[in-house]
Amino acid sequence: MAVKSAEATADLPDWTTLDYKPMEFEEEVRAFWEREKIREKLEEIRSKDNVGLAGFVEGPPTLNGVPHVGHARGRTIKDLYYRYLSMKGYYMPFWAGWDCQGLPVELEAEKAFGVRGGKKKLLEEVGMEKLVEECKRTLRRYYPEWLKADRLLGVFINHDRAYWTYKDEYIEREWAYLREAWEQGLLGEDYYVVAYCPYCQTSLSHAEVGLGYEVVEDPSVYFKLRLKDRPGEFLLVWTTMPFTIITDLLIAVHPEADYARVEVGDEVWIMASGRVEPVMEELGIPAYRVLEVLPGSALEGLRYEYPFYDLVPRQAELEQQNELVHTVVCEEFVDVGVATGVVHLSPANGEEDFEVARERGVPVFSPYDDECRFTEEAGAFSGLFARDADDVVVRELEKRGLLVKAGRVEHEYPTCWRSHHKLIWVARREYFYRVDKIRDRALKAAEGVEYFYEGPRRRFLSFIAEGRPWCISRERVWGTPLPIWVCSSCGHKLLVASRKELLEKAVRLPDGHFELHRPWIDQVVLRCPECGGEMYREPFVLDCWHNSGAAPYARFSDEEFERFVPVYFLVEGLDQTRGWAYSLLMAHVILTGRPEAPYRAFLFYGIVLDEHGRKMSKSLGNVILVNPFLERHPADLFRFYMLWKCAPVDDMRFSLEEMYKRPYQVLSTLYHLHRFFYQNATYDGFDPARHTLDWARGEGLLRAPDRWVLSKLQALVEAVDEGYARCRFHKALQALEEFVIEVLSHWYVPMVRRELWTDDPRTLPRRLAIYATLWHVLKTLVLLFNPTTPFLAEWLYQHAYRPLDPELPESVNFERWPEPDPALRDPELEEAMEKLTLAVSLSHSARQAAGLKRRWPLREAVVVAEREVLEALRPHGALFSELANVKAVRFVEPGFEPKGPGWSSSSEAGLAVFLYTIRDEALVGEGFMRDVARRIQALRRDMGFKPTEILEEVHVACSSPGDAELLRPFLSELEELVRTKRVELHVGEPGELGVEAEWRRYDIDGRVVLVAIRHPARKA
Ligand SMILES: [Zn+2]
Ligand SMILES: [Zn+2]
Repeated sequence: MAVKSAEATADLPDWTTLDYKPMEFEEEVRAFWEREKIREKLEEIRSKDNVGLAGFVEGPPTLNGVPHVGHARGRTIKDLYYRYLSMKGYYMPFWAGWDCQGLPVELEAEKAFGVRGGKKKLLEEVGMEKLVEECKRTLRRYYPEWLKADRLLGVFINHDRAYWTYKDEYIEREWAYLREAWEQGLLGEDYYVVAYCPYCQTSLSHAEVGLGYEVVEDPSVYFKLRLKDRPGEFLLVWTTMPFTIITDLLIAVHPEADYARVEVGDEVWIMASGRVEPVMEELGIPAYRVLEVLPGSALEGLRYEYPFYDLVPRQAELEQQNELVHTVVCEEFVDVGVATGVVHLSPANGEEDFEVARERGVPVFSPYDDECRFTEEAGAFSGLFARDADDVVVRELEKRGLLVKAGRVEHEYPTCWRSHHKLIWVARREYFYRVDKIRDRALKAAEGVEYFYEGPRRRFLSFIAEGRPWCISRERVWGTPLPIWVCSSCGHKLLVASRKELLEKAVRLPDGHFELHRPWIDQVVLRCPECGGEMYREPFVLDCWHNSGAAPYARFSDEEFERFVPVYFLVEGLDQTRGWAYSLLMAHVILTGRPEAPYRAFLFYGIVLDEHGRKMSKSLGNVILVNPFLERHPADLFRFYMLWKCAPVDDMRFSLEEMYKRPYQVLSTLYHLHRFFYQNATYDGFDPARHTLDWARGEGLLRAPDRWVLSKLQALVEAVDEGYARCRFHKALQALEEFVIEVLSHWYVPMVRRELWTDDPRTLPRRLAIYATLWHVLKTLVLLFNPTTPFLAEWLYQHAYRPLDPELPESVNFERWPEPDPALRDPELEEAMEKLTLAVSLSHSARQAAGLKRRWPLREAVVVAEREVLEALRPHGALFSELANVKAVRFVEPGFEPKGPGWSSSSEAGLAVFLYTIRDEALVGEGFMRDVARRIQALRRDMGFKPTEILEEVHVACSSPGDAELLRPFLSELEELVRTKRVELHVGEPGELGVEAEWRRYDIDGRVVLVAIRHPARKA
């Protein structure tokens, strides 16, 4: 054999002895990116050379915990998009941001003090300044964890340009939203029933309430209310919140529904007639009689006795004040399909109840303090926490003979998204964005956005359509202060939304340090422009969703805001339909006054579950944290797996085992394809500058397999582009998977491997044409993979491409996104090759049925199909013979019947393949030689020889002379297959042969063979 001169490969780095070691490759790439400032350079390049702007605002993670796998899913998608758009030529301000304020951080900080007894106690003992300091410390504690996660995960976000929602400059710009709302009359103050978390001691917005429904257990109480003017008659009522009876003011029935007067013992109970049977059964009352059925409207105005006049004297006074108090009213919202269809109303504890009372001018009785404890107005219940009064109320009802049944019920009930405590509805004084007034504008804004998936779109739009006022005030410490001052003399209100203005208008300022936070801001006193009195700040801070929702304006300068907003694309978790996506949209519509969202597209992604489909939680111990995970597993694999497994909108079941199956196979195959290419191409002196695809086409050197793989590649480029652009990442990656595993590894490489397996100078141009094809195909693949697996893409780019073509840009990220080339499409060839690969697969099945290895050559195959299929196949007969490993192939129209024994067949989709399975001595010998060759190949690898290295001598010893004779005619072919200068054939055992070597013994289907490699460079 001709031995290749070493000069072609002398200067090139040789990495081809490396196995696929993703963890090491990734760390090498991280170091490269950092050392060469690749991220910084990419931003610099695209800021000058771009096809357009793609605005972006980071959905800021809250710095009150460490990143887990759910965060990683979103960050991977963001990074994918950044790299994808950058390659498409867009400039995107991919700048980080951190959500720093609000309850989550404040609660995390509170833990540090270990004070029990709630916020009030904490502020007494610790004070606001220390609490604020601790909040900032909390941010500093978690921040490095997030930096680390982004580094490990390969997120190319710019941390130097990060925004921090607690900084004064951010807060001042956030205040711009309030100023707009104030001036448009959209910022209002009112008593309102708000959801309140007794644990966190603050109110929640509607959006927040939607974040946390859970199944909880509550009392289930049936009780009676005595009618005043009808002795012995009662209203039968059901409640799960007995404490609200303390503030009961009205009873509601449905005006058009039927109600029954039911005789039970010597009493008459009134309830919805459709509910008589089930309720009586539930109460265990077998004997009853319906006396009369009448419409709900007939009950209107009936007066009933409040059960606790003695305990809550204030209730009697209320009756004196308003004649509707403790009467029956009619309301359409009453549901007569559940419980008794008779509903008690406590305007202090329910939104609907509150509205009913307000419409009728009934006063609201809300005897609660800041901690949801009853005040003195609640008489005997004074000092009790609302829900703790449940049991007391039930006992009091029982004492008075008004309790019918007390049990427990499990039902879905809103809980605090942060602390999981059951929420309570109480009437409080709060500040609101009156988004109900701009509902249509908001809805129009939301309708103009691309959501990629119908489910989240519908959910989001229907939430916007509810158009409920957005409660933005919170009774907390760590947050953006509400910049409203109230005159202590005349009640005049002033909104001052800038630090400069405050300094100008203040009559009193904090001593020394002054930042835009409590407690300092509370010390600012202004002069009333109306009466000259002193004005003090409303002690509220803003909803943390307002804080982060202000980001589009607050994180940019005016000029950047004009350039980047509305932003191109946002991606956040599905729960953000009621969170960030909502607050961004509402705040932007208020700020601009336009029916426009601050984002053109919003992808909501699902949560990550464990492999059994359970939510990840601390209590189950199944939470995967990003940093420890990525210290042990490759980031590319993790990224690929999360995007490949399912549509982004779906909940994802995360299985480590699954990650290491197909996804690992795809990435490792991509690596090995490169190794195969690089080894052979460098060996043959391939020069991508000279041996281009155009050159190969011009020279007529491309054959069917090359033209086929190039054609398939164009379809792939389209599919991947479409998948990325339409947020069908799983489709894009499944297309890449199919191409790497099937098209390239399974078909194309076997089609050309034999051609590359030679040193014949006469066929060198053909080999160079194959390298030109592989270079083009693999390099395109690397570009397509880059947004998903940036480490592997960069590693291959640096090791397989840049050494061969020094003209290439410094990083794969500086490349432009590939465009499909229609000139390379050949649908006819694709169709023919589809038939061909099917025919080859059928030949494999026919072999398997006959128990014949693929390595063993057979005499003949017959392919049976309709004429037009045969015509497509016939030009590829030689390729079929090679892939099916047969000496001859016949193409025959339907009707073929094999004559005689020895045929095996398989068929599918109008195609049948018959194989003649009987082998003569020559075929058996050749098959045996292939088996031996395979053992030698494995031994070569074990001994560390590169596939291109040519061995000095290989010794093969057969234990039987007959076996040696089978092999003898194929020795030169064997030499070529295993790349050795000489094969020596022996008969006998090692001791008798006189060859000093380390022999390996193999049993090949009952034939014993010994093999040894002798090479001067290595001691075998
Ligand atoms: Zn809470
Ligand atoms: Zn005043």
